Amino acid sequence: MIRGCALLLVLFGLFSCEQAQPVLPAPPAYTLVIHGGAGAIQKASMTAELDNQYREKLHEALDAGEAILKSGGTSLDAVVAAIRIMEDSPLFNAGKGAVFAHDGTNQMDASIMEGKTMRAGAVGGITQARNPILAARAVMEQSEHVLLTGKGADEFVLEIGLDTAGTDYFFTQRRWDSLQKVLKKNTPATSSDQKFGTVGAVALDEHGNLAAGTSTGGMTNKRWNRLGDSPLIGAGTYADNRACAISCTGHGEYFIRYAIAHELAARMRLLHVDLDATANSLLKDELFPAGGTGGLIALDKKGQVTMPFTTDGMYRGYTRPGERKVAIYDQEE
Ligand code: ASP
Repeated sequence: MIRGCALLLVLFGLFSCEQAQPVLPAPPAYTLVIHGGAGAIQKASMTAELDNQYREKLHEALDAGEAILKSGGTSLDAVVAAIRIMEDSPLFNAGKGAVFAHDGTNQMDASIMEGKTMRAGAVGGITQARNPILAARAVMEQSEHVLLTGKGADEFVLEIGLDTAGTDYFFTQRRWDSLQKVLKKNTPATSSDQKFGTVGAVALDEHGNLAAGTSTGGMTNKRWNRLGDSPLIGAGTYADNRACAISCTGHGEYFIRYAIAHELAARMRLLHVDLDATANSLLKDELFPAGGTGGLIALDKKGQVTMPFTTDGMYRGYTRPGERKVAIYDQEE
């Protein structure tokens, strides 16, 4: 009898062991990832003061987005809040601090996408909106279109009453000097010493929704009316709740041709591959050999983060409950 009971207990134990499922770590309540551009950013040519200024601004952008996510806000709001901080800073090539086109004007591009609804909005070659990311969001929410460019986009910005600024606001000596240097050397807008400097953010909120946004002045000495990848949904920006959210920075012409943001999302959705390995391989094994340099940030619904780049550095960082990282150079812990 006792032996019979023992046998039953052993069998029960085995049975219940077989029932046990592997314990997966729960996804974080929220995650926010940002970048402030990739490019020829070398530690040796950076002063301690400038290095500090960049890190402080990245933290400020993370703080702004995290405050929203922490209080149950949406990934879309967090992306906009983080990008606005960087647009308002002359340190980055977006909003104030945007680079100059060949004709000496600032022509800005931005885009935004919501992973739950697949809604998207973008602007290209706008000249007046203080915060181009707000213009992109307004196209998504207040128009029936996805992408507005040039004069029509500028008029839309005025019509809906967004904050605008004159050319003196967007002028920064540093970007002007860069244009003069490039003009003197007669190097094309695509030369490899570009510090791209575009800004972007991707976020996952506590409702499980992803969003992505990107904002830029484009490339120094670009031909007027040139559009890069940043305002193009699928090239520089993409968000799909079934896959991931992505924001790119780098030599836009290549990111357009390889539709990098959508390509990464499609591979994640259809092939169920690893986010980090796939993003790295896209940039390093496909884009780079073709001649395109740059970086991207991406985030999936499990809260997995990747921030690969093929340049010397990329201003970048992420934050979530109990974890924060900000970095600039390669191999930075
Ligand atoms: N991707 C942007 C463009 O080609 C530049 C950048 O990332 O800084 O316009």
